[in-house]
Amino acid sequence: MIRFEQVSKVYSGGFQALQKVSFHLEKGEMAYLTGHSGAGKSTLLKLISVMERPSDGQVYFNGRNVSRIARRDIPFVRRRIGMIFQDHHLIQGRTVFDNVALPLVIEGYSHHDIQRRVSAALDKVGLHGKDRYFPPMLSGGEQQRVGIARAIVNKPLLLLADEPTGNLDPELSMDILRLFEAFNRVGVSVLIATHDTGLINSQRHRTLRLNAGRMQEEVV
Ligand code: ADP
Ligand code: ADP
Repeated sequence: MIRFEQVSKVYSGGFQALQKVSFHLEKGEMAYLTGHSGAGKSTLLKLISVMERPSDGQVYFNGRNVSRIARRDIPFVRRRIGMIFQDHHLIQGRTVFDNVALPLVIEGYSHHDIQRRVSAALDKVGLHGKDRYFPPMLSGGEQQRVGIARAIVNKPLLLLADEPTGNLDPELSMDILRLFEAFNRVGVSVLIATHDTGLINSQRHRTLRLNAGRMQEEVV
């Protein structure tokens, strides 16, 4: 699903965020990506979704080398990836339904399909009946679930989560992790960037560790 070969990233200011990183994540695999703040976790995720380009090395997603793909092909990559952020990036002035529907609207799905899929996605994250709410009316955990519903609504191959439990207490964090596990069980590959050691210790999964831009031995 993901393969990095000797990937380095130097930002324009000259800062080397990743150094010769190599790893792979199999289709259907679920893993944590951990390391201290500034270790390069977000950078690694951005190289997969082509928000950033590597300075050196190759990044493969779903069998395709995305390191140097043309700008016009980036949307084809992104629509196979569901992205989840710590602050969920919801549009505050739009309903839950509209937020979750957004990826489908962009892709030009029919009104009927949008209704059906959004409702199925909200069911899966336990937010049935909340479709007319606005994000500020929801708890932090619920808002994160809306973010997850939006990420899975067009059935991505891969979920990339960047500190998805950063603003949540341990119990809510576990609930969110269980949701990721449920999607993983139906075949979705999952990579969760987190420095939440409580979360990592509560449910064991393969763990990739970045240390100042270098991929360490896997910790178990
Ligand atoms: P993490 O997600 O592990 O906290 P990041 O990938 O966000 O790490 O950042 C790794 C390093 O790269 C940090 O030192 C950060 O300041 C630097 N960095 C991240 N984005 C940029 C950017 N756009 N320009 C310059 N430096 C950046
Ligand atoms: P249909 O295939 O008829 O659209 P499903 O019940 O299979 O209905 O899917 C409905 C919704 O469930 C999807 O829009 C998506 O939100 C979610 N979903 C189903 N399967 C997956 C999957 N493999 N990965 C991510 N999301 C999924």
